[in-house]
Amino acid sequence: MSDGLTRREVLIRVARGTVLVGFGSTAGFLIEKADGQVVWQVDASRCANSRLGEAGAEVCNLCTTECVVQQSAVRAVNNFRECGRCSICPAYFNIKSAVDEKGLPSEKACPRDAIERRAIGLVDPADPANNFYEYTIDEEKCDGCGICVRGCREPLGLGSIVLKVRHDRCVGCNRCAISIACPKTALARTPVTAALEPTLARQAAR
Ligand code: SF4
Ligand code: SF4
Ligand code: SF4
Repeated sequence: MSDGLTRREVLIRVARGTVLVGFGSTAGFLIEKADGQVVWQVDASRCANSRLGEAGAEVCNLCTTECVVQQSAVRAVNNFRECGRCSICPAYFNIKSAVDEKGLPSEKACPRDAIERRAIGLVDPADPANNFYEYTIDEEKCDGCGICVRGCREPLGLGSIVLKVRHDRCVGCNRCAISIACPKTALARTPVTAALEPTLARQAAR
């Protein structure tokens, strides 16, 4: 472009301004669009990070790097109804890290420390397999990098964490930049309905 900016840089600048306005006007977010509106959304059954049987050990972080919004409009979302509340959660812990004095992996998986682990009920140190935890993703920290999503896949996890485009953060690009880059064509224009957004609906109801 004439001023030396690429189209992507221009889009990013526009998106930053738009998102700041969006944050100020929407407190609760989640399903902001009316039923029937069409938005960009990630299909978890196609995304390389959540799809079972996907070859390769590398996490796909294109949802983070390709979105025109500075911190990406994509977030990891934990579907609490499907979460096993595991003591050693493979999305929360780096299960390859050294074991600490409590018998737990010493490192967390999330590079942004965006997952909160909270004990449910009493914790019995002598019976760790029967201790349960709630894992909540901090919307302000997460940037949709997909590491926890891949960690949560079966058989180690139950696949309860998936990536979602947050409609309050997304600026609704005519052609989603992530969709252009996605190797699995997992981004698609999708009508908003409660049935198609079950994860968001469940999290919103909490
Ligand atoms: S770009 Fe596609 S495959 Fe990669 S994390 Fe996003 S939705 Fe998944
Ligand atoms: S998607 Fe990445 S940044 Fe977000 S909670 Fe998971 S590991 Fe952390
Ligand atoms: S349409 Fe795609 S690239 Fe544009 S803001 Fe939304 S998620 Fe990001």
